[in-house]
Amino acid sequence: MRVLGCDVLEAAVSLGRVRGAHETAAAFPFIAIATNHVSASTNPVNSSSAKQPPPADAGCVIAGAGQAGANVALTLRQRGYQGGVLLVGDEPYPPYERPALSKEILLGSRSAADCCISSPQQLAELGISLLDSTTVVHIDRARRIVHLSGGSDVGYRTLVIATGCRPRTLNPALADLDSVAYLRTLDDALRLKRRLSPGQRLAIIGAGYIGLEVAAAAIALGCEVTVIDREATAMTRVLPAEISRRILDVHETAGVRFRFGRNVTSMEKTGGAALLHLDDATTLPADQILVAVGVIPNDGLAAEAGLEVADGVVVDQNSQTSDPSIYAVGDVSKRHHPIYGRGIRLESWQNAQNQSIAAAKHICGASEIHAELPWFWSNQFGMNIQIVGTPLREHRTVFRDYGEGRFAAFCLDRGRLAATVTVNRPRDIGESRRLILNACALDVEKLRDPAVPLRTVIVQPEEPLESRSH
Ligand SMILES: Cc1cc2nc3c(=O)[nH]c(=O)nc-3n(C[C@H](O)[C@H](O)[C@H](O)COP(=O)(O)OP(=O)(O)OC[C@H]3O[C@@H](n4cnc5c(N)ncnc54)[C@H](O)[C@@H]3O)c2cc1C
Repeated sequence: MRVLGCDVLEAAVSLGRVRGAHETAAAFPFIAIATNHVSASTNPVNSSSAKQPPPADAGCVIAGAGQAGANVALTLRQRGYQGGVLLVGDEPYPPYERPALSKEILLGSRSAADCCISSPQQLAELGISLLDSTTVVHIDRARRIVHLSGGSDVGYRTLVIATGCRPRTLNPALADLDSVAYLRTLDDALRLKRRLSPGQRLAIIGAGYIGLEVAAAAIALGCEVTVIDREATAMTRVLPAEISRRILDVHETAGVRFRFGRNVTSMEKTGGAALLHLDDATTLPADQILVAVGVIPNDGLAAEAGLEVADGVVVDQNSQTSDPSIYAVGDVSKRHHPIYGRGIRLESWQNAQNQSIAAAKHICGASEIHAELPWFWSNQFGMNIQIVGTPLREHRTVFRDYGEGRFAAFCLDRGRLAATVTVNRPRDIGESRRLILNACALDVEKLRDPAVPLRTVIVQPEEPLESRSH
């Protein structure tokens, strides 16, 4: 459920904050605000009555008001959940989606309001309370209470951890310059956008999706862009080299320069600019520097509460942690994936959306299991790149070219399709999904031929995907 035209987010960007804690206390009676206590009768859990058990129906508290957290809240209401629903988020905004932050927001073709999932008013109408600019700092599992920044406590019947990820940072000694930026939040994107004026020299450290999307936007805005990566090519974590090579060709033609196989060893300020020293003894002057070297899951809250954590909060196929009253969803969760038969942590819009919807249904008593192939997209220089499945570097890649730069790249694992990457050919994604799930052996010559319908490239149906390892 996405609501367009959330002007409130635009207003919040200029005002800085949307909705106060005290306003939320009125809508969510079991919350205790340290500076303005609600009455004892409606306040079963607070700092002075900490020994009391939580209320019989404390409802659902969601730590993290991003895409996944918001979709848990909205789905709970859609499914008729009767308890209180409280979204606690540490950003000063109502829930919003992030994909446009590295694309349309930088280009100015979408506004902050376009990214909004639901305004505070819309949430309030659904009986969802939003506590923004507030951090969940501690989970007391024994008493089913969360402690919030500012000193208040909230009881829960069900807790959902939807705290997402944060950017991996460079050593502060290396990157202590004003011109160094990261990109995760709306504030980060708006700050970066202000810095990308024509003629600015932008150095991007990290040739992953976010680095390449920003490179494309910055070139369109008239910047000079150099991307530095310690690996030999781009997107090494998620794509076989032959596929990333084709994407890089488009970047290079558009003017992006790459320095692969290089590390930044130090940075210094020279006048108004920065000088990056690389490990081949060369230097690179830059007015702005974006560090895009991956993310780290915000799983400290769960770890400190004694929940199982291993590069993300470990959850089962229902998104429940080792404590059945606590769920984890979205980028922070490492879910037992029913299709792959192992734990996977996905950083994608699709997963944030659908895993959280499935978790909310489970909280409401449904038993259906969320099982879908990973799907991801990226937009760079007019290329709409889509990926279904999990491509690995060691997969054999078979290209099917449609001309004018449009292609599908099929990633084969011992003759069967494990993943497909398309550029401006979204239609092949759906058929690929079926071929991957059916674990069919494929005729490689037919696969290469754009005149052959994809549904006819099967050699013979064999055993299901679950029995294969990826
Ligand atoms: C720039 C960018 C571009 C992207 N582009 C694409 C794309 O093109 N395609 C695609 O499929 N995916 C894309 N993604 C990925 C997608 O946006 C994420 O997978 C998705 O946002 C994950 O949602 P989430 O709710 O799990 O985490 P988040 O959206 O990160 O939300 C988590 C929220 O919890 C807050 N929080 C953290 N700790 C606490 C705490 N203790 N208390 C309270 N609040 C807390 C965080 O500040 C944040 O607001 C992109 C991501 C980024 C950053």
